[in-house]
Amino acid sequence: MHLDAIVIGAGFAGLYQLHALRDRLGLRVCVLEAGGDLGGTWYWNRYPGARCDSESHAYRYFFSKELYEEWQSSERYPGPAEIRAYLDHVARKLDLRRDIRFSTRVTAARYDEGTNQWRVETEAGERLSATWLVTAVGCLSSTNVPDIPGLADFKGRWFHTGRWPHEGVDFRGQRVGQIGTGSTGIQAAPVVAETAAHLTVFQRTANYSVPAGNHPLTAEFRQWVKSNFEEIRAVTRSTVNGHAFRISERKALEASPEERRAVYEKAWETGGLQFRGTFYDLLTSRAANDTAAEFIKARIRAIVKDPATAQDLADIDHPYAAKRPPIDSYYFETFNRPNVSLVNLRKDPIERITPNGIKTRTREHPLDIIVFATGFDALTGPLLAMDIRGRGGCSLREDWKAGPHTYLGVQIAGYPNLFTITGPGSPSVLTNMPAAIEQHVEWITDCIAHLRKNHIRTIEPAEPAVQAWGEHVQECARATLLFDAKHSWYFGANVAGKPQVFMPYAGGLARYARHCAEVAARGYEGFVLDRGRAAEAVAPTAQAGV
Ligand code: NAP
Repeated sequence: MHLDAIVIGAGFAGLYQLHALRDRLGLRVCVLEAGGDLGGTWYWNRYPGARCDSESHAYRYFFSKELYEEWQSSERYPGPAEIRAYLDHVARKLDLRRDIRFSTRVTAARYDEGTNQWRVETEAGERLSATWLVTAVGCLSSTNVPDIPGLADFKGRWFHTGRWPHEGVDFRGQRVGQIGTGSTGIQAAPVVAETAAHLTVFQRTANYSVPAGNHPLTAEFRQWVKSNFEEIRAVTRSTVNGHAFRISERKALEASPEERRAVYEKAWETGGLQFRGTFYDLLTSRAANDTAAEFIKARIRAIVKDPATAQDLADIDHPYAAKRPPIDSYYFETFNRPNVSLVNLRKDPIERITPNGIKTRTREHPLDIIVFATGFDALTGPLLAMDIRGRGGCSLREDWKAGPHTYLGVQIAGYPNLFTITGPGSPSVLTNMPAAIEQHVEWITDCIAHLRKNHIRTIEPAEPAVQAWGEHVQECARATLLFDAKHSWYFGANVAGKPQVFMPYAGGLARYARHCAEVAARGYEGFVLDRGRAAEAVAPTAQAGV
């Protein structure tokens, strides 16, 4: 089967890319999706307490005012079922399902230079080809189950939060061990604790968290959302992180200690990721960051009644928000329950999993269920799960052995006509994802329209542009405190053997989007455009203004 474009993945990115290429450019497009239905991350992440950390009026598409205005969210933060219902609504409205094949996992994609086609293979052995290949595989979709010795001998049941059984898990009467205290673990623990006989949380790195402040939305707020589409969209497109709130222009140390405290207290009461926006230098000045970090640590100590547990939870070794900051619903309060205990793995590390539970250095913890809230092989994992081969059979797995190399996070040298939505080197996971996705889908769609109009056979980045972009990505990260948390998944540090390179673009979504638009306006500067005769490289000018 030959198509104009194949899109891999049917989450937020894949659905919009299908609509844009099929309905705006008139291309023949097929979406291949491993899951049994649409939703991407929200198809798989159905663990207890799962909920989006972006607010429901921002966690949506903005490309259609009508679509935006007709959807009503029920809560401040949407849960997986509501997000899937929203995407189902979009798919029905735009008639997308007819071009999506579910339960179809792509295993390989090879560029054929002779025919200028991508040849795609699925797990079932099916073969399809297309001129354009777009990956919409998400950044956090390859689950990371750490290689702890003994798991195969465990007599109980175990689950990774990112592959949660759709029928749910009954924790009643069960002794549950949860490994991991990232955004996922911090959401899951309070809900697991409600029904489990006992919950033991195994914490390696203590983490900051701020109350989410979730609540049902009032009719007034929903009406406000409906009436303010343009303004909400304008905010998401003008901020560094694509959220629908503005970041303060004030520096933390410009405020007096009393003023700062009042600002943090108000943000704590309001809840959510806005806490990061209280002062604009929280991620660039360690002294500023310390003020927020100390505030949160003091809150943890005040909430948690057992002083030793409070100390273990508040003993945080990195700046606030240098790792992705979680938001929670009664996470720290959960440790005041009689059926919850904390194991500090820094003091008492896991030695192995036994048939009956988890053995740490000092004792065995008997368990019926182990929950791995241990995160993902982020950004590169979903791409490298497929055997992608470009010009001359070059392999992405080989080419990225020392870390990913992209231009703008959207294309890879040697892999013509392949586009990577929210790929490494783009703002992606540092943003409200739908905002970053929309920007990429629109840029890719405009690019393909340009190539078709001008009879250009292939586009791929020139090596010097890739090199310069890679340096710029590192330079942007180094300018922030994100670079200080070397054990974060932004560096790939959570996956054994993964190269340690800072992967997302930390220069901000609005600035990045401006730069991408300028690249296109300058005739796709930094890309090699092949008209079928001699390839024409559009030489990159200095990265000024990036
Ligand atoms: P994560 O942030 O990578 O956290 C994984 C946790 O597992 C960490 O506490 C980590 O400890 C621990 N861990 C990993 N391997 C371990 C081992 N061998 N032994 C002991 N502990 C181990 O993963 P996540 O919580 O799933 O979150 C990933 C990302 O998904 C988030 O940062 C966020 O971007 C996204 N997310 C979003 C939402 C939302 O919007 N609602 C919800 C959940 C997740 P260390 O810190 O020591 O490595």
